[in-house]
Amino acid sequence: MEQDLPRDFACPRCQARYKIVRMRSEPGIVHQMLQCRVCEEQLASTENDHLLKYFLVSRPAPRGSFP
Ligand SMILES: [Zn+2]
Repeated sequence: MEQDLPRDFACPRCQARYKIVRMRSEPGIVHQMLQCRVCEEQLASTENDHLLKYFLVSRPAPRGSFP
């Protein structure tokens, strides 16, 4: 399956870090809503007829954990 290089993405709400892989959309694939796995912010699931897949890289640091 054709796919682009992963690119970095940070959730606009909680700053969780993701890698996004863009895949060619295929007929019959149901476009489902994607949510941030940390804060449940809605994320775009498609871009220019491509499907977006999100891979969580790191969660935002909890408040108060900085030295
Ligand atoms: Zn988030």
